[in-house]
Amino acid sequence: MLFQKQQTIANRYTVVFPHKEGSYAETYRVRDENGKLRFLKLIYYSKLLSPQYNEDGKIIEVEVAKFLDHPNVCKYVDSGKLISNGQQLAYIVTEFVSGETLDKRIIRDGDLNVYEIKQIVKGVLSALQFLHSLPTPIIHNEISIQNLMLDLAGGLENLKLIDFGHARFLDQEPTSLNLKEINPFYLAPERLNGVCCVQSDLYAVGVVLYQLLFGSLPWFFDVSKMNGQQIVERLQAERVRPIRIPYIEKFELDEQLLNIVNKATQNEVQNRFQTAQEMLDAIEGKIKVETVIRRKTSLGKTETNKTIKRGNGFSDVAGMAELKEQLRSDVINLLQNPEQAEALGLSIPNGLLFYGPPGCGKTFFAEKFAEETGFNYLYVKGSDVASPYIDGGKGKIADIFSQARENAPTILFLDEVDAIIRNRSEHNNVTTAGAVNQFLMELNNCGKDKVLVIGATNKPMDIDEAALRAGRLELKYYIPQPDKETRKEIFQINITKRRYDFGIDYDQLADRTENYISADIALIVDTAARLAFRRNVGKITMALLEEAITNTKPSLGIEQIKAYEAIRDRFEQTEKHQQQRTPIGFKK
Ligand code: ADP
Repeated sequence: MLFQKQQTIANRYTVVFPHKEGSYAETYRVRDENGKLRFLKLIYYSKLLSPQYNEDGKIIEVEVAKFLDHPNVCKYVDSGKLISNGQQLAYIVTEFVSGETLDKRIIRDGDLNVYEIKQIVKGVLSALQFLHSLPTPIIHNEISIQNLMLDLAGGLENLKLIDFGHARFLDQEPTSLNLKEINPFYLAPERLNGVCCVQSDLYAVGVVLYQLLFGSLPWFFDVSKMNGQQIVERLQAERVRPIRIPYIEKFELDEQLLNIVNKATQNEVQNRFQTAQEMLDAIEGKIKVETVIRRKTSLGKTETNKTIKRGNGFSDVAGMAELKEQLRSDVINLLQNPEQAEALGLSIPNGLLFYGPPGCGKTFFAEKFAEETGFNYLYVKGSDVASPYIDGGKGKIADIFSQARENAPTILFLDEVDAIIRNRSEHNNVTTAGAVNQFLMELNNCGKDKVLVIGATNKPMDIDEAALRAGRLELKYYIPQPDKETRKEIFQINITKRRYDFGIDYDQLADRTENYISADIALIVDTAARLAFRRNVGKITMALLEEAITNTKPSLGIEQIKAYEAIRDRFEQTEKHQQQRTPIGFKK
């Protein structure tokens, strides 16, 4: 530990007790200038890893701490930087809670009764409801019984959720997975792929609830002799099975509570509780929870999301007139006149590639295209198929295509398609050659079976060139950030679906959102609607929209947009060059 008892940190905090030394930080119990006890975390810049910083080079944990202001978290007091012992350090000061963590309490005092367990879970959910409702939600990412602090002075419901070392703002890059630091049994399935969302925290609350009720972790096995990848694979295999509910007699343990555990720990995000408030209402008996059947497809078969869409189709899509027109002539007309098409030996193309910056409508357009054509829609994420943790990519790809054929006509939307067919020359290629070959083979003739593949990527240069040839992802479309007219239309489409005020000036809205991407505009309208609701205004007004714009930063900087355009230019050049060798259609 860098500081000893009685020494002063940052000229202000006197060490009462050096507490603990971790991998990148030390913690201290300190007294401030007024003699108040505080908790201080000292972070070594030299020991931080890059995912612990945000895009602006700030430490995420410090930025998160600044938002902590709720009875179920330790309140933020102060933060700053200091230099000591020739090293640069950051510190966070929060209120000090005198108490013990829940795991220690259980060891000391034995099992809790159902009433106490509910109190605890309610406390965690209140903290999460607060964190998840911030303008940019904070995901805690490490909910466990070790990170719940019971305040000796208060009741169980006064517990504090602590340790924000893995917390992230929802708009940040995915987390990296370090199973040496995190207990894998609390991790939601998507966390195993490095992705986190509001519902991942709620999954962990489900695990805590199970653990408190039954004294063990769900789907538990011995990990002591396994490496990270083995743990992930085994965990995925185990979780296909229904959760095991031990037979125990516990007063007040009713079916509703068991259904809550089951729902919270579903593999599919959409089958879980969607908000902490929803789970809280379920615990308090305000809503009834039905038994959710665990889908068996979660590992063996790849997660896909199939729906028959019944919506407005292209009329929901702002701008993109040229793309709509081209798809009408290349795909929709052929489908509507099958006999004529067959007589002329024409079938729909096997595949298209949508590329360009994130949040500009690749997924959205594909969904609306499915609505327009009446096709089924199957969504698959590349990283789910080709994660370095998942083996057997070849079988998964065959499986996805056969699902698509069974449900044909189908739009098979492959998000992050670069992860599936990554350039085979690249060093960090995670897809096996078998998987790439399988993919190419399936792609070669899926149009005949009425399966249209739409690949989406923001890294077109990373895609194996063989996948881009004629007869495969043949037609390529750059989906840019919206221009003024398109922004205006996105505002119109999103606002006119709801209750709104007279006098909304769409031109002005579009003018004020130059450099905003489509997703930002959708968010602005959502934010304005939320403000209207919160303030009891009852409808979206121009003033609220303006306020929402002021409070929403564009997701992409001008530099980033330029970088995507540079990628587009390079990609077009390479494609032109390829075309001279193999004639393929290239459309922009
Ligand atoms: P991408 O797949 O390119 O990352 P998305 O398709 O998820 O982006 O787009 C993000 C959101 O932006 C959509 O959910 C939708 O609300 C909005 N959006 C995108 N493009 C359009 C459009 N052309 N018209 C209307 N809304 C759009």
